[in-house]
Amino acid sequence: MIFSKIRTYLLPTGVFLFVAFILTMIQLKVEFPMLFFERFLSGGGWIEIFLVASFGAFVANKMQDIKQSAKWRTISWAVFSAWFFIQLMLGILADERFLLTGKLHLPVPAMLISGPLYRGEKSVMTLLFLSTIILTGPAWCSQLCYFGAVDNLMAKGKTSRKSIKNKFLYKHTLLAGVIVVTLVFRLLNVSPLWATIGGGIFGIVGIVLITIFTTKQKRMVHCTVYCPIGTVVNYLKYINPFRMVISMSCDMCMACTSRCKYDALNLADIQKKKPGITCTLCGDCLSACNRNALHYKIFGMKPDNARKLWLFLTISIYSVFLAMGRI
Ligand code: SF4
Ligand code: SF4
Ligand code: SF4
Repeated sequence: MIFSKIRTYLLPTGVFLFVAFILTMIQLKVEFPMLFFERFLSGGGWIEIFLVASFGAFVANKMQDIKQSAKWRTISWAVFSAWFFIQLMLGILADERFLLTGKLHLPVPAMLISGPLYRGEKSVMTLLFLSTIILTGPAWCSQLCYFGAVDNLMAKGKTSRKSIKNKFLYKHTLLAGVIVVTLVFRLLNVSPLWATIGGGIFGIVGIVLITIFTTKQKRMVHCTVYCPIGTVVNYLKYINPFRMVISMSCDMCMACTSRCKYDALNLADIQKKKPGITCTLCGDCLSACNRNALHYKIFGMKPDNARKLWLFLTISIYSVFLAMGRI
């Protein structure tokens, strides 16, 4: 009894200490005031470190309960996104200290590919994105992207059991299209203004898709079909060893299918005993399975430990981004 009580404190405590350590290093070592509070009040960064580390620990505590995990993933991801867009608006309308660099970037995820391709140089955001893939696989698309939170919120309710038709045809065509158009823009020296307008139109079409298709299908159609970064994540995630698997105890009841907003638990996936390529390891499906057949897997770890390790890494990165993540 007492040991199981202690075990429940391990994950939140680990998240608190790790986040506090990383943010302390940032506060001490980086000359530019990376932490939000520090920009407005000398020493305010220390208050922020305590608040953000505590919030990370709180989210970890809630999400370690399989039954509450989906609810708190949605809430915490929505908080992340709202905080990002509030800072963006305040940066534009009130004070440029709300923006990390003081420079404005288009808040459309596709820019992670097309921005560096158009400019011909690396971007800090792209490096951060790649580091999350190395550490957590697809967590960028389950809890770390400011835009996906909107698709997630709008995909409320039980999804249909039918898979999205021609999903891969659309996904690959859109990814290839974004890369080709960006390279053409660069070769033709299209001005930054027109390139930004192009990126803006791509973002607006995404919002329209969320409004029409995601809400209707109760599945994250924008993220699983339209967003080119989602497609990149679907493949790049395999450089990370975390996996979601379906064990032999599965009796094909299909109860998990309607919980997956990423269209990754269709009949073919369940027959193959592994979720489809669009799985982001979000963990929402775990509570749907009465046979306890869905598991996180990494090396030879027990499923529960593998899940806790994934939550530790994802929520720690989430918290650090929350403390610094602004445009
Ligand atoms: S698919 Fe695109 S919009 Fe959705 S979470 Fe991933 S990067 Fe963000
Ligand atoms: S299969 Fe499960 S873990 Fe993977 S995306 Fe779907 S709900 Fe999330
Ligand atoms: S809910 Fe569990 S038993 Fe039912 S199909 Fe999904 S993994 Fe199999």
